[in-house]
Amino acid sequence: MILNGKKIAEEIKAELANEVRLLAANGQRPPHLAAILVGNDGASETYVASKVKSCETIGFGSTLVRLPADVSEEQLLHEIDSINANDEIDGLIVQLPLPKHIDEQKVTERVIPEKDVDGFHPVNVGKLVLGLPTFVSATPKGIMEMLKRYDIETSGKHCVVLGRSNIVGTPMANLMSRNSYPGNCTVTLCHSRTKDLVSYTRSADILIVALGRPEFVTADMVKEGAVVIDVGITRVEDSTNPRGYVLKGDVAFDEIEKKASFITPVPGGVGRTTITALLQNTLQARLNNVKPSKLHNHVS
Ligand code: NAP
Repeated sequence: MILNGKKIAEEIKAELANEVRLLAANGQRPPHLAAILVGNDGASETYVASKVKSCETIGFGSTLVRLPADVSEEQLLHEIDSINANDEIDGLIVQLPLPKHIDEQKVTERVIPEKDVDGFHPVNVGKLVLGLPTFVSATPKGIMEMLKRYDIETSGKHCVVLGRSNIVGTPMANLMSRNSYPGNCTVTLCHSRTKDLVSYTRSADILIVALGRPEFVTADMVKEGAVVIDVGITRVEDSTNPRGYVLKGDVAFDEIEKKASFITPVPGGVGRTTITALLQNTLQARLNNVKPSKLHNHVS
């Protein structure tokens, strides 16, 4: 069965639009997300554009700050400081990757944790590890939402995560090992130094792949009936396509679909729920700033 990220994203957007209506009914402004985009990288432009568009669709405010590729680190940090201090903005994301002359870690740490709706700040990462309420990084949060909404059993399962990035693989492994639902898995986190990777992937009840290597996982690497979550998105050159490229996941979808109990497509899978998870975090950031006495009938 295909895990339809598009359908889930539409459901979540409808819920978020309702939250905006409830805020308005309580005399409160909608959540507002600011995004900083440095340079003109094609993929980053696309991601930021769809985040901004999604904000508009559900009634969130949004601000896009575009800075040239040669912007100094100091100017970028200054821009972050001014958004940090702006009470009309609840969430701030700085689209990665940044040009080489800018220290990404420094930038990530400059966004105050209260507005860090990407969940990249060390304070928020630490809270995630401890299982405290925080902004969970959008891709893993979206995957958890997908598992929940499809009512997929996770307790006692072997979850194998391929890739240990700070934004996907590592938080994913952490969340799946938590004593909660989705979670309670026995987790194996694999990376480029893992020996005999296939022995792990073949024993996975739930396989989450975040490598950035198109169609790396083939049918012979997957157990019959496994749940397969494909995080990878890579632009692969294709002269027959009007855009000159096609998007490929890390999983050979056509051959694995027959074997898996559930599988996410690319596109239309994890990418969709990543965006809605970011919006859910932005709503949370907004609600964190509203006194409870000012809110009636909120579900969040
Ligand atoms: P990343 O930082 O690029 O890291 C890749 C990870 O894969 C590393 O941990 C690396 O191991 C591991 N790896 C690479 N080759 C391997 C191999 N042959 N065997 C085992 N492990 C291998 O990862 P990322 O930022 O998480 O991105 C991964 C993919 O997800 C990309 O295609 C990205 O575009 C996509 N992505 C999609 C979304 C979405 O919304 N759908 C969001 C974020 C990322 P080492 O650590 O040992 O180097």
